[in-house]
Amino acid sequence: MSKKHNFSAGPCILPQEVFQQSSEAILDFNGIGLSILEISHRSKDFVAVMDEARAIVKRLMNLGDEYEVLYLGGGASLQFAMVPYNLLKTGGKAAYLDTGTWSAGAIKEAKKLGTVDVIASSKEDNYSYIPKGYTVSSDYDYFHCTSNNTIYGTQMKSFPEVDTLMVCDMSSDIFSRQLDFSKFDLIYAGAQKNMGPAGVTLVVVKKEILGKTGRENMLSYLDYSQHINKESMYNTPPVFPVYASLLTLQYLEKNGGIAAAEERNEAKAKLLYEEIDSNPLFETFCVKEDRSLMNVSFKLLDESKKEEFDNAWKAAGINGLNGHRSLGGYRASLYNALPIESVQVLVDVMKSIK
Ligand SMILES: *Cc1c(COP(=O)(O)O)cnc(C)c1O
Repeated sequence: MSKKHNFSAGPCILPQEVFQQSSEAILDFNGIGLSILEISHRSKDFVAVMDEARAIVKRLMNLGDEYEVLYLGGGASLQFAMVPYNLLKTGGKAAYLDTGTWSAGAIKEAKKLGTVDVIASSKEDNYSYIPKGYTVSSDYDYFHCTSNNTIYGTQMKSFPEVDTLMVCDMSSDIFSRQLDFSKFDLIYAGAQKNMGPAGVTLVVVKKEILGKTGRENMLSYLDYSQHINKESMYNTPPVFPVYASLLTLQYLEKNGGIAAAEERNEAKAKLLYEEIDSNPLFETFCVKEDRSLMNVSFKLLDESKKEEFDNAWKAAGINGLNGHRSLGGYRASLYNALPIESVQVLVDVMKSIK
């Protein structure tokens, strides 16, 4: 069976080397005569994995010791609750930017824990653009945004200057482009979109912002501080997803880091958007200026060609091109590990539909 061109939105393609190395570790981890699946998370071999998995994130993001890195269970969705639980003060309020399904999910959970103001939203226009030109005052405990909207195919190209803490859900574009990560006080990302397999969520948080809500008797496993005190091993961590994420990040570091990944991602996105713009059969769902480099959501304008197009991309060995059920159409996810050759295959299929 030859390898498919995998445009899946998540879980998604990872470097082939990572599949190879992680499958070897399942059989024999570090040559110790045990599988990674059967060793204690307290063993020195796994503690070394966790330590390096935490350290490499700070190296790649150029962050100092004021930040802590955690690998938690519960998906990015659990962070929708943990963020307000740890940052929203009793009697305080939070500002949220509503740019899609995942932002809306974060807003819904935060509202259960306190006052939330949606300071800008593009919902009325089916999330086809990123709102701009709003201000966030220091009255808010924090500002929450979603850097890349996995479903709608929009991406924040710049981030606002805010007078409060900056929190960002970077699930679907983490490590895909250079950013000044020190502008953020808390970043979280479900691994399965660009940095590893499903089952673990990355949290990068500035230590000094914690413990200020006035909330008493915090639930232990929802408290970032407790996880930090236990070096991300408060309870059994998702051992294998952490290991595979580490391998993915090591692969990224060896191959030029985020800067080189960004260049490759820009080239892939350019190739596909140029075809969409020049081919009268296709159109993106969103406005040009906010187009995502990671998730290209597009539609076919002539429904009578649908069967021909669907058959053609499947025959070309393409996987995962159907759009999210809430939007329809198509979505090509161009995550770090997707080679430009796969994008060329898709573009050639698009050109072949007449
Ligand atoms: C997929 C996704 C989520 C949800 O992630 P889970 O790990 O499934 O909870 C949240 N935010 C964004 C931006 C996503 O793409």
